[in-house]
Amino acid sequence: MQLKDKVAFITGSASGIGKEIALLFAQEGAKIVIADLNKAAADATAAELQAQGAQAIGVAVDVTSEDQVDAAVEEAAKAFGGIDILVSNAGIQIVHPVEEFSFADWKKMLAIHLDGAFLTTKACLKHMYAQGRGGSVIYMGSVHSKEASLLKAPYVTAKHGLIGLAKTVAKEGAKHGVRANVICPGFVRTPLVDKQIPEQAKTLGITEEEVIRNVMLKETVDGEFTTVDDVARVALLFAAFPTNALTGQSLVVSHGWFMQ
Ligand code: NAD
Repeated sequence: MQLKDKVAFITGSASGIGKEIALLFAQEGAKIVIADLNKAAADATAAELQAQGAQAIGVAVDVTSEDQVDAAVEEAAKAFGGIDILVSNAGIQIVHPVEEFSFADWKKMLAIHLDGAFLTTKACLKHMYAQGRGGSVIYMGSVHSKEASLLKAPYVTAKHGLIGLAKTVAKEGAKHGVRANVICPGFVRTPLVDKQIPEQAKTLGITEEEVIRNVMLKETVDGEFTTVDDVARVALLFAAFPTNALTGQSLVVSHGWFMQ
């Protein structure tokens, strides 16, 4: 039980990577807040966790709305007596070449990935600092926090930006025992990626199989997708680490696609 009685606020956790992190953190004894745009799916995920004996609630939140984020974090802190871990994970993907990217889609991407990270961090830090028991802020970056790919200008820009935010929060949070780190996964088969495969095939004029083999997994050491479990294990490492020794870092989990 590495997270016994810790309260974890996890955005975008009604699906994919966030959901797996919620399941693993619950097994490790954490009280879980499933914070997602999709309230029905958030409630269903919370019910799944409760059925396994965990304490969990679903809260509706659009991470781009300051009012909604503040209200969701307040609700969570009230329900479970504070916030110890933030996993800022909610995200979407929109792919186009730069010259065809609408400004509206660019702003939407930065709002979800960067404004969402900022707003949830700001709201959770207030609780972590006031509680005086430290905390862990974890951002869901990507290999695209370190590397670029065709068609993903705002995603790559936002994911790089999260590293800057994490480093700053690491410096500011240190005196409160609050750490901040970034997880940088390779491709993981979630709804977010399943949607991209046919889109990229169309844009690049290749088959879906070729997108997987020659685009997504081309640079990996073994042609394998990263799994939600792989990513959740790294999240647990960052969440449970006991000191400021591990802060301001970004860890790539990508089957060797990107090596530092
Ligand atoms: P997913 O589509 O399975 O889940 C994303 C969740 O975020 C959904 O439940 C959705 O409802 C929620 N969400 C979307 N917009 C939101 C908003 N404005 N407010 C609150 N919730 C919102 O996707 P996933 O693959 O699990 O992605 C999770 C994170 O992991 C994203 O930040 C993504 O960029 C990152 N990531 C994914 C991969 C991958 O290959 N799947 C790789 C690297 C990084």
